[in-house]
Amino acid sequence: MKKDDLKSLVTQLCNDLLDNIDAQEHPTKDQIAEYLQDSALTIQSIHENDMDTVEHAKEAFTNAYKIIAEQGISSYQETSDKFLDLTEQHQASLEEYKKSSLVDIQTITAKFDEIHQHMTHEIEKANNVINSLQDKIKNLEESSQLDPLTKVFNRRALNSYVNQICDKGEITHEMHFLILDIDDFKNINDTYGHVAGDKVLIFLANLLKKTLRDGDKIFRYGGEEFVIILNRIDHEDCLNISERVLKLISSNKLIYKGTTLQVTVSIGTTQYHNGDTMEDLVERADKALYRSKSNGKNQMNVEKK
Ligand code: GH3
Ligand code: MG
Ligand code: MG
Repeated sequence: MKKDDLKSLVTQLCNDLLDNIDAQEHPTKDQIAEYLQDSALTIQSIHENDMDTVEHAKEAFTNAYKIIAEQGISSYQETSDKFLDLTEQHQASLEEYKKSSLVDIQTITAKFDEIHQHMTHEIEKANNVINSLQDKIKNLEESSQLDPLTKVFNRRALNSYVNQICDKGEITHEMHFLILDIDDFKNINDTYGHVAGDKVLIFLANLLKKTLRDGDKIFRYGGEEFVIILNRIDHEDCLNISERVLKLISSNKLIYKGTTLQVTVSIGTTQYHNGDTMEDLVERADKALYRSKSNGKNQMNVEKK
């Protein structure tokens, strides 16, 4: 990785960290430490000489920002709830005082009004921060290229990557398009819960990241479906890689709360031909995937043009 890339990463990291701090009234040490830990992990996962993963890492920092912003929102919501609660309590006390003849109602009323105004002002401020953070999160989600759960590229990134290739009209190297669909994933959710299902998705994405080359691209296409794009390989290699992925996934187990979870996937692959659109690729890969499912799952099939 080049010195300039490293410098640009560190700059991005620092800027985002400062933005995180600015976005919050009371940032905590823990939040900063968590951000730095995430950043360190992201930097460690960067492959040498690969600009895509550098971009990926930058996106991950942005995602870390999102997490902190979400925490900020929930903390402001708590403040807002607490203040409303206090207002109600004060109003109740005021009613009590009004009933008593021993106290100076006017002074107490003025004092409570002052407190009330102060709290209302604080709530307004907190609500404004919530609104602006929510807008920021929405913008980040719209511009983000990463799936927040699995940290692989999302469907938006897939569309722009494939459309860029299709728009070129022709490419000079071979490219293969794979759709992976987890087998019986609904059973995992139904049996162990959605959190376990989410862990399986993360686990699977990590396995794919580890086993594929830097030039290959991994995207989360939908709920439990991933797309892999293999560049600069021939048909034979595509078959070998698909088989390797099937074996790797079926032979690795995830331990979740003491239970061993094992999943398999089915794969449909197709080769890109000049003139193909995204829809053509998905349609052919889907056909192949359907055959993998109906022939017993945990296997791959190819659909030729
Ligand atoms: P098949 O082998 O035919 O693919 O069966 P399946 O159960 O995997 O497929 P189905 O389409 O019936 O169910 C997919 C399930 O994936 C249903 C949905 O609840 C789950 N799912 C989709 N997205 C997520 C997610 O982000 N997290 C979790 N935990 N589950 C998800
Ligand atoms: Mg599916
Ligand atoms: Mg499935």
